[in-house]
Amino acid sequence: MAFTVAIVGRPNVGKSTLFNRLVGRKLALVHDEPGVTRDRRRHEARLIDLKFDVIDTAGLEEGGADTLPGRMRAQTEIALAEADLALFLVDAKHGLTADDRTFADILRRSGRPVVLVANKAEARGAEAGLYDAYALGLGEAVPVSAEHGQGLIDLRDAIVEALGEDRALAGETAGVEGEEAETDVAISETEEDAPDSYDETRPIRIAIVGRPNAGKSTLINALIGEDRLLTGPEAGITRDSISVDWQWRGRGVRLFDTAGMRRKARVQEKLEKLSVGDALRAIRFAEVVVIVFDALVPFEKQDLQIVDLIAREGRAPVIAFNKWDLVEDRQAHLADLHERTARLLPQIRGVRAVPVSAETGYGLDRLMEEIVATHRVWNRRVPTARLNRWLDAVAQHHPPPAVSGRRIKLKYITQAKTRPPGFVLSCSRPEALPASYVRYLTNALRDDFELPGVPLRLMLRSPD
Ligand code: GDP
Ligand code: GDP
Repeated sequence: MAFTVAIVGRPNVGKSTLFNRLVGRKLALVHDEPGVTRDRRRHEARLIDLKFDVIDTAGLEEGGADTLPGRMRAQTEIALAEADLALFLVDAKHGLTADDRTFADILRRSGRPVVLVANKAEARGAEAGLYDAYALGLGEAVPVSAEHGQGLIDLRDAIVEALGEDRALAGETAGVEGEEAETDVAISETEEDAPDSYDETRPIRIAIVGRPNAGKSTLINALIGEDRLLTGPEAGITRDSISVDWQWRGRGVRLFDTAGMRRKARVQEKLEKLSVGDALRAIRFAEVVVIVFDALVPFEKQDLQIVDLIAREGRAPVIAFNKWDLVEDRQAHLADLHERTARLLPQIRGVRAVPVSAETGYGLDRLMEEIVATHRVWNRRVPTARLNRWLDAVAQHHPPPAVSGRRIKLKYITQAKTRPPGFVLSCSRPEALPASYVRYLTNALRDDFELPGVPLRLMLRSPD
């Protein structure tokens, strides 16, 4: 049997919306399980390649015990008893409440694997809620928008991680009962000592973006090559895109191929330029985004816009300076490109930039190496103890300036998320901390913890 997932959380966080999204709205209307144990809340669900049963708990809090925490506990316990995994929804848009913390306690004590989900993540200002969710002590939250269907690939990955691959991908075959799946997602108290949980076995999702004629199609074809093992089109990511899998030095790679991009080199047709929508879809799919620059005409306005988009979406960028075969004075040109990269793209300082020729194959191995390295950085987690030793040193040697005669105190820092790395710093009067000092802290984090080239987030909080 496939596994069972319970969607839990306080009222209005979006449980029903997510339930409908996973079940497929039509199915929710027409599909009722026949039989004696008929249960209107349990349905078959699909998420990318995962198949499971999902239990909706929406509305259950209206019955049962008479206090709200009591009703919530009853609701959650009923659902958990039937479930292998809990999807714990919080509302990133409206922020956390005391009820969320009550839920977190119940779930933490239950010992079930929990995936913390920050819903309504598409809403303006939701990022703050996403960071606050880390304080629940259930690990990193997966940002999703149940209403708009965003973040589902990351949700899928988080479920697989929480449940273990064997269990999650068992599909229709019998799941192994007994020992709980590893709950490294759910346990944050031990995070200090936890090893970086970077998973080498999962394919790295890559997208290739750039201006028209930068050489994207040529590069994709060159990377995939004739001799590489293709597992063919894969349904389910989006309607007009396919992904291609291959291995590079034993590492799985999954490349997002926007509608016909790969065919285009052969069939010169309508796709003269990629729409912004295509680029955005590719970027959202990807973990690492390769930005193809034409080495002879780099840093055009459109190039800079694409970089901004990637930084805003929090993806891991790698730059390919393509058409290197056409470059005359290579050494001088490369030095110039590096200088301009540093100056024009401060938001991804230290980004890896590789000269390549999609046409001749020059530099492609180096490009793949940088993709893997950047993916690693993007996933890096810095232990809280190290961060706070660092903060002590910063407070001693480069303290924040006094603002209107009063010192701002740096109190505590933790990494609330990875992919990309995001930090929460609590300090007195965060609103008064000068932007230049925040920039200094961000750069110092980047340098001292070796986080080059990926977007970094630093959120400021006043201690509560
Ligand atoms: P439940 O009580 O937890 O089952 O929550 P519902 O699924 O009924 O959703 C509560 C409200 O949040 C509804 O108005 C939904 O339309 C809204 N909602 C659900 N998901 C999202 C989302 O991803 N983004 C936004 N902005 N609103 C959402
Ligand atoms: P796309 O629009 O970004 O997909 O770009 P294409 O892959 O279609 O390439 C645009 C043009 O640049 C084509 O004429 C390619 O043959 C050419 N091109 C692509 N890569 C290279 C390269 O590395 N060197 C040279 N000299 N030409 C290239």
